[in-house]
Amino acid sequence: MNLILMGLPGAGKGTQAEKINEEYNIPHISTGDMFRLAIKEGTPLGKKAKEFMDQGALVPDEVTIGIVKERLSKDDCKQGFLLDGFPRTIAQAEALDELLSELGTSIDHVIHVDVPENVLVDRLTGRRVCPTCGATYHVMYNPPKQEGICDRDGSKLIQRDDDTAETVKNRLAVNIEQSQPLLDFYQNKGYLVTVDGNKDIDVVFKDIQSKIEN
Ligand SMILES: [Zn+2]
Repeated sequence: MNLILMGLPGAGKGTQAEKINEEYNIPHISTGDMFRLAIKEGTPLGKKAKEFMDQGALVPDEVTIGIVKERLSKDDCKQGFLLDGFPRTIAQAEALDELLSELGTSIDHVIHVDVPENVLVDRLTGRRVCPTCGATYHVMYNPPKQEGICDRDGSKLIQRDDDTAETVKNRLAVNIEQSQPLLDFYQNKGYLVTVDGNKDIDVVFKDIQSKIEN
């Protein structure tokens, strides 16, 4: 089962990826992990990617796609894989189709965990952290016993700059602009399955299962 997982920040992709990995025993391949592995193994492409990253430059598509190819050619991907964070552009999606066909396989489903933007803003802006011990809370989903105070050490909780409404809204807007063409691309190819991610974690997972097993 060859899967791609898509969803905006805060949509709960990581949690669903873990569940898919456990249930179907296919590796969860995030872009970050893939790069780290190639660099650690010291493959020629890993070395190239590192040069760009060390300079703070964007890794060019041909290098990224080569690394994806190396990763998907590994034995643990024989029964399938779950890609997360790749592809990000239509050009990458087309290159992925091509390399999968070279490997004699293809995408089965692109799972889109869909959550309304206002819910994502609530989820992402509700995060609070303890400046003393680093504990994280959420005002709605994981509140401290006493509002604004760390359970462990009584410190006053803070909101990170990254989690303020304005930053979160900007981040979401950039992500929506980037992902919409890809969602359209996969919709047109008939790969896209959309699940309502604004539900209980287990309900979302059941929905994913029923859609990809059909
Ligand atoms: Zn604390």
